[in-house]
Amino acid sequence: MVKLAEWRGKELFRKYGVPLPRGAVARSPEAAEQLVRSGAVPLPCVVKAQVLAGGRGKGGAVKFAATPEEARAAAAAILGLEFKGETVKELLLEEKLPIAQEFYLSLTLDRSLRLPVVIASAQGGVEIESVDDAAILRQPVHPFPGLAAYEKRRIAAALGLSGPAATALDGLLDALWRAWTAEDAELVEINPLARVGDGLVALDAKVIIEDDAAFRHPEYAEIRDDRTPLEEIAREKEIAFVQLDGTIGVIANGAGLTMATLDVLKEFGGDPGVFLDLGGTDDPKKVTEAFLLMAQAKPKAVFLNIFGGVTRCDTVATGLVAAMQQVPAAERFPLIARIRGNNEKEGIEILRAAGITSIPSLKESAQAVVAAAGGPR
Ligand code: GDP
Ligand code: MN
Repeated sequence: MVKLAEWRGKELFRKYGVPLPRGAVARSPEAAEQLVRSGAVPLPCVVKAQVLAGGRGKGGAVKFAATPEEARAAAAAILGLEFKGETVKELLLEEKLPIAQEFYLSLTLDRSLRLPVVIASAQGGVEIESVDDAAILRQPVHPFPGLAAYEKRRIAAALGLSGPAATALDGLLDALWRAWTAEDAELVEINPLARVGDGLVALDAKVIIEDDAAFRHPEYAEIRDDRTPLEEIAREKEIAFVQLDGTIGVIANGAGLTMATLDVLKEFGGDPGVFLDLGGTDDPKKVTEAFLLMAQAKPKAVFLNIFGGVTRCDTVATGLVAAMQQVPAAERFPLIARIRGNNEKEGIEILRAAGITSIPSLKESAQAVVAAAGGPR
């Protein structure tokens, strides 16, 4: 999933004509001060941490400045902050506008309606999840013609806008629609959308590009920084690999069994850390590659839970044993297996020959893994 930082989202918005405050990006307190001194960012200004997580306003990651020195101090205070697991490395400085009203406006895909939907609320500037359902308008949009005039009027009414502000909204919705469709976005969100006089200005921008369209956007290849280095390698090798915080590695096949395995480990007090979904792999080499990646994450123990279907048990066992032999003795970890299904006997035999026993019961195998990783929490 490509999530754009606010400043990138705003750059994209600008291309499509969404009105924005004047601003620029800084990566040091000196640069922040300079942006203000040069007039690139008018005073008073807002200094905002460029992290992907929301809630910056409440979390001290948005500050105001009235002088170049204050801009520098605000930048120094925010840069390097740990904000919800991210280190702040970039700032967006923008002119501080006199806000008359704050709204919420977004365009996304409603998967149950199978239609794009505009979500609008007059209660902006707060997380939309915390807004009462009755105060939120969900306006489905036909994907071919886009937003109709009457639909835009309905949205304006929901926001309580009329006259010039409603006209401004009309143009803004068109711009948002063009941005969403042309950029293959999954979400474009403006929160808050501010009324400033008779105009509307996007004070924040959240843009997520649809993963299935990522191949059409090589321009974003560099900014997929929400992946860990190992996840990045896995992606290049087309291995479904996810790294969490825990200590137990999970290798399973199919999203359903993989998720269920994580749940079962949790149930018995385990702490699953990395998981690998072998999917329908039928190539032992692929299994070996995947397993070596798992080994690099240094799990305390690994649970191999395979249901042999398209992926045959012996394929997995062969790949796994080959991989185990490539892991240096000092870096080995206990491996508990549970393999059932297609070519189960052959698979179990291959594992047994390599000194790995397969435990048929899900409960017993999960408990064995938790014990091998140091016992339940
Ligand atoms: P988030 O909390 O991470 O979503 O960050 P936002 O970009 O939404 O900013 C948080 C809050 O800062 C907004 O809800 C506004 O109240 C305030 N803010 C941001 N830009 C401006 C501005 O130009 N003028 C004023 N007065 N407030 C602003
Ligand atoms: Mn916001």
